[in-house]
Amino acid sequence: MQRLGKNISSYSGETIDIDAVLRDCVAAARFHGWAIDEIHPAPKLILGFTRHASCPPSAVLLRRTGITDRVPRIYISTGIHGDEPAGPLAVRQLLRENAWPAGLDIYLCPCLNPTGFTMNRRENHEGLDLNRQYLATEAEETVAHIAWLSRQPSFDLCLCVHEDWESDGFYVYEQNPDQQPSLAEAIIARVGEVCPIDRSEVIEGRPAHNGIIRPTIDPRTRPQWPEAFFLIMHKTRLSYTIEAPSDFPLAARVAALTVAVNTALESISQRHCAA
Ligand SMILES: [Zn+2]
Repeated sequence: MQRLGKNISSYSGETIDIDAVLRDCVAAARFHGWAIDEIHPAPKLILGFTRHASCPPSAVLLRRTGITDRVPRIYISTGIHGDEPAGPLAVRQLLRENAWPAGLDIYLCPCLNPTGFTMNRRENHEGLDLNRQYLATEAEETVAHIAWLSRQPSFDLCLCVHEDWESDGFYVYEQNPDQQPSLAEAIIARVGEVCPIDRSEVIEGRPAHNGIIRPTIDPRTRPQWPEAFFLIMHKTRLSYTIEAPSDFPLAARVAALTVAVNTALESISQRHCAA
């Protein structure tokens, strides 16, 4: 698979009708019994979907016997950058397929920056990069999102779903301060079957190995927090930011992101629900 060569100084590939994609997401979520929260009202409607676990009997039994104490909780978000269409498309596909691994509670934000998508722009309608807003917060979307997150329980795993217009392949950032068993190698192995992996030794200015970046940054030293910093400081101890390469065909990027999410969720489900 070759780069398309479309992206010269910004993303120049396909765009999506975000309103139509979100209508499809809502329809699929309703059909499959998700609860739907309004995080931020119209005209920039931002939604949060919640689905509670269906767990096989063995796992229920394990929890009753105290071997595991509760169902794992997973958070997935995308669409925080309006020039990254594969994220909302991947989420729509996952909602429609409804093939979520057993035994997980899932909290899903299908588009955090709807006004950005109407302009095919990274930033929101006010020119703010919402993924730099999570410490000093100006954007009303981020204020509302943090308030919604604060009403949710902690998560066992967070996945922030992105694209990168410059990269030569898929890659992943891992934040894993407690050195839990990593999901990154499994994600890269499975995604590598459907999409090129960026195997550069430096990605986005950070050391990388086989498509995996394990930053050693302390968020407290940084003035501008991406969503993933807020999550690791307040909501989780295991977080992945997954990045599809947006100078490749859209179908491959959507496949990469859906495979990455499914691989991560299957790994967590198997750890907790195996009899
Ligand atoms: Zn992004």
